[in-house]
Amino acid sequence: MSTLQQNLEKLETYIARFKQDGVLNQIAGEARPAISGESFDNHSPVDESFICSVARGDAADIDAAAKAAKDAFPAWRDLDAGNRKKILHRIADRIVARADEIALAECWDTGQAHRFMSKAALRGAENFRFFADRAPSARDGHVLPSPTLMNVTTRVPIGPVGVITPWNTPFMLSTWKIAPALAAGCTVVHKPAEFSPVTARILMEIAEEAGLPAGVWNLVNGFGEQAGKALTEHPDIKAIAFVGESRTGSMIMKQGADTLKRVHFELGGKNPVIVFEDADLDRALDAAIFMIYSLNGERCTSSSRLLVQESIADEFQARLVERVNQIKVGHPLDPSTEMGPLIHKTHFDKVTSYFDVAKSDGATIAAGGERAGDTGWFVKPTLFTGARPGMRIAQEEIFGPVLTAITFKDEEEALEIANGVEYGLTGYVWTNDLTRALRFTNKLEAGMIWVNSENVRHLPTPFGGVKASGIGRDGGDWSFEFYMEQKHIGFATGQHHIPQLGT
Ligand code: NAD
Repeated sequence: MSTLQQNLEKLETYIARFKQDGVLNQIAGEARPAISGESFDNHSPVDESFICSVARGDAADIDAAAKAAKDAFPAWRDLDAGNRKKILHRIADRIVARADEIALAECWDTGQAHRFMSKAALRGAENFRFFADRAPSARDGHVLPSPTLMNVTTRVPIGPVGVITPWNTPFMLSTWKIAPALAAGCTVVHKPAEFSPVTARILMEIAEEAGLPAGVWNLVNGFGEQAGKALTEHPDIKAIAFVGESRTGSMIMKQGADTLKRVHFELGGKNPVIVFEDADLDRALDAAIFMIYSLNGERCTSSSRLLVQESIADEFQARLVERVNQIKVGHPLDPSTEMGPLIHKTHFDKVTSYFDVAKSDGATIAAGGERAGDTGWFVKPTLFTGARPGMRIAQEEIFGPVLTAITFKDEEEALEIANGVEYGLTGYVWTNDLTRALRFTNKLEAGMIWVNSENVRHLPTPFGGVKASGIGRDGGDWSFEFYMEQKHIGFATGQHHIPQLGT
């Protein structure tokens, strides 16, 4: 594994071109600055140094990109699915070939630790391979004969779609949303998050180098309230796949109402990890720590609430404090770093504001609760104990390396606390009582639940949340359900009676 110094040297060569030319939009196969000529600056969260300027797209750029996606749609839709499969596999090959570049650029742009981002780049390639292999069967349907008709169903791609992604693990999430859209036969306009534009540009370049026809995938950078909003309102865009905050999802639903947009939302979470006294406590401890402090806690599926049974709470929390204080916060390109800086000053201010909220609400800061270092947006991994379910730290998505611990007496109380938030993305249950696990998971309000495990993603399974955590599911065939329309065709099998009017 490369050392920090080696990684920094490689990074310099990888991002030099962005420093010089900036991150441009890509529309109809052409790299273009924003039509308005405007750009914005992008800085690294590690030391606030300048990375690059970024095209500040607005409604005019979105309009050009949507037109390009519309023009490219018929040919891409009608391309033999075997050819689409080949192109998507070639994209995966090129991601693997450039995984080092992608990982280092992503770390520098987002502050995520290299140990996680190197895997995330490869996960992006797997996403392309998974949906590439399913492209040939995406249009398959059913035969549903009736007495007079041979009814068949098939699926067709919905049309040009908009994909709007957030700044946390932006490369992996972009592949996760875009690969199935392309496999289904849709064309795409992608609006990446303004805080992390670099790897979206690399991914786009990879796709066209791999043979994706011009206009099939268009990239427009810019701010949510300008470029993002225009994308959700554009009449040529048939659906919006969105990953981000719940309140942004709500705005997008309103913005898309006039053009009757189909929407798919992957939104926020305040996910519980529930530890019962009969659990394997060593493994539960490892998983609880991993699921909130990896990826800087900037992870929608993070277990940000620890619900621990009273009988074991003191010992479990004491062990937790010891481990949390040993988590290595440092430069994201240092291979030994476990936690890097938060994405941006705005987010740093939000996360650190909860340190005061915790104190004023009467919780205890058992670990962390302060900035780490003087430059960059580093915070110490933080643990709040003595929290009660109604406190803001137990209700609101902090989206940082901050765990709120709450104790419970029995199963009933654990369930009430677990379900007592507006979100319902994931839940993690630790118990060795099988019937309890069955009972509890049946009533737990979450789209995804793991029992005696951290979050281990298996691509054929459905991914998504309930309540304020989302609408719709990704993964397996569920992604195609979103990007495609069901079509029914009934063929008369004989001379059945047709009602005659006006005779
Ligand atoms: P965000 O909602 O602020 O921004 C996400 C994207 O939406 C950005 O590209 C932004 O420019 C765009 N946007 C903002 N306002 C818009 C508008 N009015 N119209 C159209 N687009 C607009 O989210 P964020 O802060 O970038 O990301 C963090 C959030 O994402 C967290 O809440 C996290 O839980 C969530 N998330 C959820 C999942 C999931 O699968 N459920 C995965 C990752 C992140």
